Amino acid sequence: MKITAIELIEYQRGLTVHAGAIDWLWVRLQTDEGLTGLGETYPLASAEKAVLRRALAPVLLGRDPLQIDLRWAEMFRSISYSGWAGAEIRAISAIDMALWDLAGKAAGMPVYQLLGGASRASIPVYNTCYDRVDFLTEPERLAGELLEAGIAAMKIWPFDPVAAESGGQFITSEQMSRGIEPLERIRRAFGDRMDVAMEFHGYWNLPCAVRIAQALEEYRPMWLEEMLPQDNLAAYRELAASTSLPLCLSERLMTRWGFRELLDNGAARIIMPDIAWCGGLSEARKIAAMAETWYLPVAPHNCGGPVLHFASAHLAANLPNLYLLETVRRHYLEEYEGLLTASLVPIQGRLPLPPGPGLGVELAPGVLERPGVILERIAIA
Ligand SMILES: [Mg+2]
Repeated sequence: MKITAIELIEYQRGLTVHAGAIDWLWVRLQTDEGLTGLGETYPLASAEKAVLRRALAPVLLGRDPLQIDLRWAEMFRSISYSGWAGAEIRAISAIDMALWDLAGKAAGMPVYQLLGGASRASIPVYNTCYDRVDFLTEPERLAGELLEAGIAAMKIWPFDPVAAESGGQFITSEQMSRGIEPLERIRRAFGDRMDVAMEFHGYWNLPCAVRIAQALEEYRPMWLEEMLPQDNLAAYRELAASTSLPLCLSERLMTRWGFRELLDNGAARIIMPDIAWCGGLSEARKIAAMAETWYLPVAPHNCGGPVLHFASAHLAANLPNLYLLETVRRHYLEEYEGLLTASLVPIQGRLPLPPGPGLGVELAPGVLERPGVILERIAIA
């Protein structure tokens, strides 16, 4: 089998979160045997498309898509000026996901089967609260609705508005109380029925992070995620030593080499790669295997588009050391609507095993005609 064309399908969503626009980029590999493979990355489609056009297409077109490890190594070599960072690795991630989709279709099996088979009958999830119900003002209503749906773990980021006030450099006692309040209210309303992960998006300096972690201890959050920027993992080691709460890191690290340093220094208790960012399914499973050697679990980051959602479910179905899979109810109930040929929604707090063959899903007919969707095709000349 040979790759004959790469379709780049950019979906401009007109949505800005944190630092900028979050657009989804789908890649579709076409082959001389008629099989196709679908992958995804985000958030900066224009940069990822430039990498795909100029660096990756030349090492993919005309080559065998079933040699996944060799294709990955050649792509990584083609961007060796970059190392493990940026749009280069995100673009590789999208292609790798599409290669696994193709391999599954060629074998007539779901991707999780190729990864080593299902390690569970269904996948435990938590909900990340990009939600129409605001966790700052109505935390009890939000937690109550999730519990009603059988979802007993959620992730919130009430310290972000506080960090914005001081650039994450200083925190007053009043700000501390404000940051803690949503978690405190959830605990008061539901006791230990709801587990709550606290997300910090890397906004804090070390002394503030230490103070916040110590102040949160009595409320027993499920984990503390990215309290500091991820560039100096030695600082994370200090943070980890200052608290009994588990640290979770990090969707922003890429490839097995990026995670190697984190695993060696022991700062994190929960490992969180994003398949669409870390180098694809190939890299995520290697990172998970490395984590397993340290007896650490993996909670895949799954806060992107709908193809990532399916790929993450395939990985989560397989991983022996899965902790929980991230899901976003606003995504699977609203934003993914009509984009793919299938949906994947939790039932009583667990995702069913995803379908196959491959990732088990295609772009829905009509998606290419949507406003904000731009198609580009790179074919063998
Ligand atoms: Mg995060």
